[in-house]
Amino acid sequence: MFKKISIIGLGLIGSSLARITMNKQLAETLVAVDINPKVCDKVRELGIAHEATTSLSEGVKNSDLVILCVPVGAMGLIGEAIAPFLKDKAIVTDVGSVKQAVIDALKPHLPQTVELVPGHPIAGTEHSGPESGFPELFEGRWTILTPLHNTSVEAIDKVSAFWQECGAKIEIMEAAHHDLILGITSHLPHLIAYTIVGTADNLEDDIKSEVIKYSASGFRGFTRIAASDPTMWRDVFLNNKRAVLEILQRFSEDSPPCKKPSVRVTAMRCLRRSAVPARSENRLWRWGRRGIRHRSG
Ligand code: NAP
Repeated sequence: MFKKISIIGLGLIGSSLARITMNKQLAETLVAVDINPKVCDKVRELGIAHEATTSLSEGVKNSDLVILCVPVGAMGLIGEAIAPFLKDKAIVTDVGSVKQAVIDALKPHLPQTVELVPGHPIAGTEHSGPESGFPELFEGRWTILTPLHNTSVEAIDKVSAFWQECGAKIEIMEAAHHDLILGITSHLPHLIAYTIVGTADNLEDDIKSEVIKYSASGFRGFTRIAASDPTMWRDVFLNNKRAVLEILQRFSEDSPPCKKPSVRVTAMRCLRRSAVPARSENRLWRWGRRGIRHRSG
């Protein structure tokens, strides 16, 4: 499909893409690039790339597709560092959970001859690092692409085809729209989870032990979400501040939920049914009971 693919950042998302690229032979050569030499060693040990290097310049040389899988706050620096080494007509894409800030950080550094196709797979877990990736991660999940007005159709098609090989469904939208939607479906829930778990952690020791002892599924769900990598989520909140604050404002105005309980409960049940079809809910529930990875958006 591609002669050479470079994946920068071999954590959960990058290593999952690497596994798929190797399994399905989506590239003649796959180079894994990570600043952390231990991550490169792990990649070699796992055999999830043809080569692994800590050198950005070496890693992206002659690459047809460069996929940035680093925290959102690192995208601009990486873009600046790789720009002089990108070949003409190379496609640069990313998986960052925020889109407008990534475009603003990356675009100014990239040569005119390089195509930028920003993307975000709506799939993940609370785990990090190269060991945590798995090839089924994107199966049946959305990947949102937010191309720029001058991104070529050919580049969008190539990146879409790559994600489809990963099992993902494709949606194309404006970056700002993506950030607003994900603000409510993902960023605010993570912010709330971190806050609730932080509040519980600040309780006096005797109460805290009872919170753990009587932890119901609601609270346990929050602890799972709040176990996600804090660097990644700090970057998401800081880089989608406007949308998250706007949604947070609306959320505060809509609280407390007991204002009009009957109307709210009906509306919530409708939302729950639309967001989680009954069959997939059962599947997630069974997964949870078997202690298998629980996937989050
Ligand atoms: P992760 O598991 O923490 O992996 C990130 C990797 O990037 C780590 O190996 C990290 O090395 C490396 N890295 C950090 N800064 C770097 C730099 N400047 N140059 C090269 N490598 C660097 O993170 P992840 O969960 O895969 O997330 C990666 C991206 O995917 C983020 O932008 C996130 O917003 C997006 N995303 C995540 C999820 C999710 O649920 N996790 C879902 C969708 C999208 P160290 O270990 O040494 O820091």
